[in-house]
Parts: sequence; C-alpha cells; structure tokens
Amino acid sequence: MARPYNFSAGPAALPDEVLAQAAGEMLDWHGCGMGVMEMSHRGREFQSIASQAEADLRELLAVPEHFHVLFMQGGGLAENAIVPMNLSKGGVADYVITGSWSQKSHKEAQRYCEARTIASNADTRHTSLPDPAQWQLSADAAYVHVCGNETIHGVEFQSLPDLAALGSQAPLVVDFSSNVLSRPTDWSRVGLAYGGAQKNIGPAGLTLVIVRDDLLGHALSICPSAFNYRTVADNHSMFNTPPTYGIYIAGLVFQWLRRQTEGGLHGVAAMEARNVAKSRLLYDYIDGSGFYVNKVDRACRSRMNVPFFLKDERHNDAFLAEARDKGLLQLKGHKSVGGMRASIYNAMPLAGVQALVGHMREFAARHG
Ligand SMILES: *Cc1c(COP(=O)(O)O)cnc(C)c1O
Repeated sequence: MARPYNFSAGPAALPDEVLAQAAGEMLDWHGCGMGVMEMSHRGREFQSIASQAEADLRELLAVPEHFHVLFMQGGGLAENAIVPMNLSKGGVADYVITGSWSQKSHKEAQRYCEARTIASNADTRHTSLPDPAQWQLSADAAYVHVCGNETIHGVEFQSLPDLAALGSQAPLVVDFSSNVLSRPTDWSRVGLAYGGAQKNIGPAGLTLVIVRDDLLGHALSICPSAFNYRTVADNHSMFNTPPTYGIYIAGLVFQWLRRQTEGGLHGVAAMEARNVAKSRLLYDYIDGSGFYVNKVDRACRSRMNVPFFLKDERHNDAFLAEARDKGLLQLKGHKSVGGMRASIYNAMPLAGVQALVGHMREFAARHG
C-alpha cells in the first residue's frame, strides 16, 4: 500500500526502499545473526558498513582526497559551537545572516570567538540574499560562515560564494543540513561543511562534517576531545561509539542515491534535475494561482523548503485538514513564519509534488 506523502521539514521522509530494506535486515544483517544496532562498532561487520557509507558518500559528492569525512553527533546546533571551538583560535569569525539558522550559528559562536555579522537580509525579513560583493569581510577572519539553505525561510544559495575572488583567504564554512546531496557541492570554495542527517540523509542523531585537512589541529584547549575534529579524524569517527544505526541508514540512502537516474544523469546530478523540476512545478503554480503566495526573491528560492501563504488565512485550518485527508502530511509552516511549508527533499518524488499542487488547485477552486 502506498504511504502518504510526508512534507515534514525534519526529521523528514526517507525513501520507501530504504525503510523496507532496513526492516528486512532488522533482526539479522547479511546472515551474521545480529541486527545492526546490536553490533560492536569495532567489529568486522560494522566496519564494513561504515567504510562503505563513507566511500559512497565520497563518490556521490565528489569529495576530494584532502577532505576528511566525519560522522559525529549533536546535530547542526552542536556544530554551531564545535566549529568555532575548532577553527576560530579565539579570534575573529565572519557570519552572514540569512534567516533563523544562521542567526543561531552566529549567536552560539559569540561564546567562543569574536563573531561578526558581515551581511544580513533582516531588512527584507529573510526573503533575499545579500550580494557577496557587498559583504564586509574581515581581513583577519578565521572563517566565513553561511547557511546554504535556510530551512525555515526558504532561502538558498544557488551557488556558493567564491571568497578567493572577493579577496579573502578565509575558508568558507557551510551549514548544509537541509540541502546536502540535493545538488553538487563545489569543494574548491569550501573549507568545511556540516549538517544534521535528519533532513536529507537519514535519522536524527548523526551529524555529517566534511573538512579540509589543513583546518584540523587548531582546536581551543576547552574543546571536548569527542568534538575535536583532529581526534575524530584520527580515529576514523570511532573515538567514541558513533551513532551506528544512523550511519547504517545513511549508507542505505547513499546506495539508493547512487541507483537514481534522471534523463541520463546519475546520483546527485539526477537528484538535482529532479529537485529543479519539483520546485519549479510548485513555485510556478503558486505564482500563477492568485490564491497562494511565496514571498522569497526568485533568485534565491529554496529547492528544498517552500514556504507559502494562503492570501486569505482564514482557510488555513481547512487547507491542512483536507490535505491530511488526501494523504499530504506535515504542511503547516514554522511557527516563526506562519502559513504553510512544503519540504520536498530528495526522498519526495515528483508525484508527491504533483499531488500537492492538485490539492492546492482544487482547494483554490472551491474557496477562491
Ligand atoms: C535542522 C537544521 C539545523 C538544526 O539541526 P539540529 O540537528 O536540530 O541541531 C541547523 N541548520 C539547519 C540549516 C537546519 O535545517
């Protein structure tokens, strides 16, 4: 039986195939007599799961040799502290404010370094992106932090800023919690990227960090050993017990991604083509509807999270209740923004977005 379409912002829907495979392997992984949750993280079985997951991820995202892939815990919010503890040396770090998540990153970093705001879109209520040419880059910044996709406000960098071209030597730090693997990552512009797994990768509890080699080894002495990138890298993410089941599910998602094709494209390129088609369908319908509205500047609209409003908000509850009845779940907007939000990550098929647009059209016809 087909499941409902789940538009949750996170933890979010996972591919049916992945969940079915995990269910089938729950009691006995590959005939070893143990489920994955019951294995020693240092045993042969789990070592093969973890190394395959890393290899698949490296291939999918074309991660260069001189970057480490770290499987950590604590989520995106813990990284808001872990990044400055590892990279800032207690000095200056530059933050670009584009919405709730980058705001939180900046606030937390202030506990560990001189975290400056070098640009902000607050004047547009987080519906635009400040032009990198106007950023007030600090000459002595240890890094520049951006949020690649603002999950709540629906604002996404369509290409990462080229700091070198702006005259900065600082490494770029990217929070890619909600758009990792939805499009390629240009590693030539990135020093470190981090993200919680629960949007586009797998279960909550796993945090992915991909960091350039030269950025290791500069942690503040107060940095907990388990959060020191050098320590984590030297121990292949097994300094302490890693989130083993999360790594396993992430690995299944990576294999699922590697199997995806779209118009001759494979893997992340296929996902990107699909995400372009899905988001275009939804935005085009909203813009032409006269009944719904999305307020984000077209140049930086997120392909992953589409906030929208009914022009007459008195219909909000009916819209959500009828959506639920049609098997369209978790469309309520974030409380700080209101309205609706459709999160359409990699695991959301085009058919799910078509079903949503069908509901929106039908609802508008009855109430317009
Ligand atoms: C969800 C999210 C976070 C928070 O992640 P936690 O795992 O809850 O700490 C941080 N940044 C972005 C962009 C997110 O979407």
